[in-house]
Amino acid sequence: MKKHLLFLGPPGAGKGTQAELLSQSTSYLHLSTGELLRNEVELGTDLGKQVKDIMNKGKLVSDQLVLEIVKRNLKKSNKGWILDGYPRNLLQVKSLNDVLRNLNQPLEMVFYLDIPDEVLINRLLMRGRNDDNEETIKTRLKIYKETTEPLVEHYEKLSLLEYINADGDLKTISADIKRKMA
Ligand code: ADP
Repeated sequence: MKKHLLFLGPPGAGKGTQAELLSQSTSYLHLSTGELLRNEVELGTDLGKQVKDIMNKGKLVSDQLVLEIVKRNLKKSNKGWILDGYPRNLLQVKSLNDVLRNLNQPLEMVFYLDIPDEVLINRLLMRGRNDDNEETIKTRLKIYKETTEPLVEHYEKLSLLEYINADGDLKTISADIKRKMA
């Protein structure tokens, strides 16, 4: 069974939900950079103060800050890990590669959660998080298409990509993910 996994896809595709479900059933570590950053904001730490406005505008936090968070939280673990929300651009891909080389734990599989834009926008509006208003949703989708979507092709070339249709019910999607992991 594959143990070093990554979820890729647009905001609202359900990466966090599926990563969490998978983490519960496998006991792999679930590492969501968005979640870790939101925690910092809630706790009002120095880091949280630095990133709050950027996040609420739907923009990307600096590569260096996010890398620090990933390094701090991605421990060498025999159980395995699931990354969600990182990497988000090609520079982050490179940084992650370096980190994983040091850990001697290469990425084994990338789940690409694909879903139509209209579905995404509705889901995000329903979710209603601080960074989920119409304006920031547009910003996040634009940034996703420009900087994150190229990662799909990158991981496809490395033969790591598994395509998941994320426009369906939760259980069907998680069953699909499990089947592809085996
Ligand atoms: P979503 O999947 O809905 O976009 P996330 O929880 O993954 O939400 O991320 C929320 C916000 O956290 C992003 O809009 C961004 O500001 C910041 N963030 C998360 N991960 C990264 C990253 N890898 N690089 C830069 N910023 C990030």
